[in-house]
This record gives sequence, structure tokens and C-alpha cells, in this order.
Amino acid sequence: MINVINPADGSVVGQAPEMDAAQVKTAIDRTCSAFPAWSRKLAKERGDILRRWFDLVKADKQIFAEIMVSENGKCLAEALGEIDYGLGFIEWYAEEAKRVYGDTIPSHAGNAAILVTKEPAGPTAAITPWNFPFMMITRKVATALAAGCTMVIKPSEETPLTAYKLLEYARKAGIPEGVFEMVTGNPQAIGTLFTQDDRIRKISFTGSTAVGKLLAAASGRALKKMTLELGGNAPFIVCDDADLDQAVAGLLAAKLRNSGQVCISPNRIYVQEGIYDRFVAAVVEKVAQVRVDHGMQQAFVVGPLINQTGFDKVVQLVDDTKRQGASVLLGGKPHALGGLFYEPTVLSELNDDMAIAKTEIFGPVFPIYRFRDEAEVVERANNTEYGLVAYAYTRDVGRAFRLSRDIQAGMVILNAGSVGTASVPFGGVKQSGYGREGSYYGIEEYVEVKYVLMGGLDT
Ligand code: NAD
Repeated sequence: MINVINPADGSVVGQAPEMDAAQVKTAIDRTCSAFPAWSRKLAKERGDILRRWFDLVKADKQIFAEIMVSENGKCLAEALGEIDYGLGFIEWYAEEAKRVYGDTIPSHAGNAAILVTKEPAGPTAAITPWNFPFMMITRKVATALAAGCTMVIKPSEETPLTAYKLLEYARKAGIPEGVFEMVTGNPQAIGTLFTQDDRIRKISFTGSTAVGKLLAAASGRALKKMTLELGGNAPFIVCDDADLDQAVAGLLAAKLRNSGQVCISPNRIYVQEGIYDRFVAAVVEKVAQVRVDHGMQQAFVVGPLINQTGFDKVVQLVDDTKRQGASVLLGGKPHALGGLFYEPTVLSELNDDMAIAKTEIFGPVFPIYRFRDEAEVVERANNTEYGLVAYAYTRDVGRAFRLSRDIQAGMVILNAGSVGTASVPFGGVKQSGYGREGSYYGIEEYVEVKYVLMGGLDT
């Protein structure tokens, strides 16, 4: 069995099965056997079952939230927020199942008609990370099942308890064995079983760029469809003409979520010279008021980092940045609570050559850079292999539009700090991956387009 650890105090809060290859293979077999019947169900029937899952989980939100706090460390308020966000995908795709429309195309030949249909891609597999233990599962499973696919999912071994709870409720709702399966164990071995099985026609992965590339390469052998939601290095741009209070509030909300352990967390905060000093002072003032604590409470608090590796990474990045001459305006060291708690930290006077500018921080650290003009900041914002999200604050409509056009990212958020919801296409460009989740774009990732020419109509 795999022990699941509470990052707030190191206690064991549960266990998950450590499956061997034969057990994983059995789950894949079930996923494949269930596909024909599930894909032939009426879209409304699939939608109704998903809706039951939504209702059952919604009624027990608190149970899920407490599990999530205990294995992930995020505070209860955030866990409840994530559940609403994640439930949104089940609700959305329960409805969207009925709207997978095809097309007709005027025929190029006489005596013929052309149809374009959309068919479920087949049995699918998914692998998810620990930072959103609930939403990452619903976002993938609800979409796949709505489209008529079946799915076997490997959640993160750091946070499998939320995942298995979701499976339990899925069964109660009538989602049959095989249609939604779950496996846990050795990630690399399970990844290999997923990629090497030719019956699995699509893999959806959220996690690091390094692992995404391994899976993409392995899946290339059988040319599987893929959705890859990978790492980010989000620029957060504050122009001279920004509404300062809104920009500070947006930054704190985006950065402190899940203690900064989010792929869309602002990772490079670029502030224009004219507003720099005022902005930095306001950020320090607000961040100083943020509480750090264990998460089992309603008030927002910054919780622990997920594990020792994540904690050590933040310590080392901040220490290196200090050594290279950055000013530490707040924090800059492990928190007095000990363990995996790290102080919310504000660093200023940074430059783009520092490692912190090139690395996904995954901690409550605000690295602030100075910029002179728009052309310069666009170039610097784009100077990364990642392209997931970018944020910008400006009151100038022309500038806002130019930034949205010129920044290389799958998502550009203007004058706001919040990104995700079920109705929008979430995803990145460059080495942040490809494919989209959410909205009607998301379900398109789980269907194959089929062109049907019907000839000889009048004979
Ligand atoms: P990770 O890549 O280490 O792990 C993600 C998942 O992959 C886990 O389930 C893990 O067990 C599994 N895994 C690890 N090695 C594997 C292998 N060799 N083969 C198959 N599976 C393997 O990432 P993490 O540390 O859990 O999560 C953080 C990363 O995820 C960050 O880079 C973050 O930006 C990214 N992320 C991206 C998004 C997005 O939507 N773009 C969202 C959340 C997190």
C-alpha cells in the first residue's frame, strides 16, 4: 500500500493500493471492454448519469473538502472552491454530451451527399497531478464520458484519497465498472502500460513538462491522440496606467492560491518603472497580512508545500536569488511553524538571467522585475519555453489588445487574476503543451471526425 501523508504535520492520513502490472492491465482491459456499450448509449443517458454524480458529490462537498485538506494541505476555503470549480465540469459536460454536433458539406460530386460525424475516440487514459486533486479528475473524466469514451485514470500518489472518493461516488451514481477505472502504483510503470497498449486511443496528461514529453514520445509509437497540460512560467505585467489596487488584489489571489503551487501562478511579475515603487510597497503591505497555518479552517490561509522536494526547491531558489543580489522585502525563509511551511516572500530588483526567472517556483514567492516599455516587456514575457497563461493590467484598450495578441500563451487574462471555469478553453502553447480542457473545445479532444460520402443516391 502507498501511505498518504498530510503535508501540514507529516502524519499518515490514509492509504492507496500499490497495484502491480497485472492489476493495472485488468483495469485497462475493463476500460476497453466497457467502451462499445458506453459509446452506444444515448448522449442523454450518459448526461443523466453524469448529472447524478454531480448531485451526489455536491451534497457531500464537506467530506471531499476535508479529505483534500488532509492530503494536499490547501485550506478548507480553497478546497471548497476547488470542488465548486471541479463540479462545474461534471455539470457542464453532462449537458454538453447532447451537443456533439456533426456537419453536412455540399457535395463536390453529383448524386452524392457528404456527412461529417463525430465519434468517441475510444478507450482513454489519464494521469493527473496533486495540486488540484478533485478538479483535475472531474475535468478529464466528465469530458471523456460525455463524449462516449471510457477512461482509466492514474491520480497522483500524493493525493489519491480524493480521487478514490470520487470513484466511489461515481459508482453510486451508476457509472459502471470499466467506464471509469482508477489505478495507483508506480507512475512510470503505469505510464508505460498506458502508452504501450494500442487499444488506448487517447491519453490526457496534466503535470510537468518533463513527464509530458516522455509520455508524448512513448505515445508516438502508436500515434495516440494526446492532451498535454504542462508547466508554466506566467508573466504578470503591471503597466503604469493600471488600477493599482485591482492589480495588487489580482496578484495576491492568483499567486497565493494553493500556496503558489499552481501551473498558472504568476511566476515573473513585471512592473513598469513609473508605478514600480508604489506597487511593490502595496504588495509588501498586503502580503504581510496573509496568515500561514494548517488548512482545516474556513478562513483563507497559506498552507504547507506538498512535500520535502517541493519545499527544498523553493528554499534553494530563494537562497540563490538572494545571493545574486535580489532585495528580500518580506519573508525569504522557512516559516516558524516548521515542517513544509514557507514564509510568503517578496523579492525585488530581479533580472531575467536569474534561475528564478526560468524556473516554475511552485511556492508563495513574489519575484518582481522592473520594465521600461511595452515592446521590452512583451519580448521578456515571451522569452521562455513555456506559454500557458499571461496576466496584464492596463486601462488602455489598445495596449490591452496588443498584449493579448503579442504574448505567446494559450490564455491571456487582462485586468483580472482568475482564469479557470468550465466554460472556457484551458491550455497552453509551446512547451506548456497542447489541447484544451473545458468548454466545447474540450470535448472535441475526445472525438474523431469521420467524413462519410454517400454516393449513388438517385440510382
Ligand atoms: P509530475 O509530472 O511529477 O507528476 C504528474 C503526474 O505524473 C503524477 O500523477 C505522477 O505520479 C505522474 N508521473 C510522474 N512520473 C511519471 C512517469 N515517468 N510516467 C508516467 N507518469 C508519471 O508533476 P507534479 O509535480 O505532480 O505536478 C506539478 C507540475 O504539473 C507542474 O509542472 C505544473 O505546472 C504542472 N501542472 C500543469 C497544469 C496545467 O493545466 N497546465 C495544472 C497543474 C499542474
